[in-house]
Amino acid sequence: MSARIDERVFAADAAGRARIAYAATAVGAAAVGAGTYAQWMRDEPHAAASWLLALGAVGLSVAAVLGDKLPAVRAGALGVAVERAGERPERLAWCDVTRVALAGGALVLEGEGRKVELALAQHRAAAAFVLAEATARIPARVQLGDDERALVGAVDAAAGKVEKVEPPQLAGKRCRASGKLVAFEDDARPCARCGAIYHREQVPAACTVCGAPT
Ligand SMILES: [Zn+2]
Repeated sequence: MSARIDERVFAADAAGRARIAYAATAVGAAAVGAGTYAQWMRDEPHAAASWLLALGAVGLSVAAVLGDKLPAVRAGALGVAVERAGERPERLAWCDVTRVALAGGALVLEGEGRKVELALAQHRAAAAFVLAEATARIPARVQLGDDERALVGAVDAAAGKVEKVEPPQLAGKRCRASGKLVAFEDDARPCARCGAIYHREQVPAACTVCGAPT
């Protein structure tokens, strides 16, 4: 159980990133221009001037941030994570995903009190991979119609780069079927398909989350 696990890492789409940075720069610069005009070029400062200047500043700083810091997406057997500024957040495990849907141009994975959103404009390859994984691992929780699947598109096998990651520590978790504490690593029996964790003495015939035979 200590074998390292393959995970795919997807950088944000550079073209999408450039488009957003460009748009944010343009909006920011236009707002600063309009704000400057409204504030100083008119006899009476326009009421909207300070708002426009503030909007401009926001647009320009969004552009600066997006210029090089769009998050990467990690996905694989352990679930999905969005990695910001190089830090590795906890993954949303497949067994904890309650719903996968398309909303606002993004593939959205909802979990208990957590949400992962993959905007298609920047993360189409990651979204396609994640959708295929979710469909294979937790099909009952994927709520996309054929049209929506077509929008996400097919998996590009060459996209992303494969990294080996350490499996997470399972000791200290609760058995999904019985609630029994998994006190020792050797007592854990994770579902190979969705990652749900069972105590070795309480493993059900089929995974209670994804239905896979255990
Ligand atoms: Zn399962």
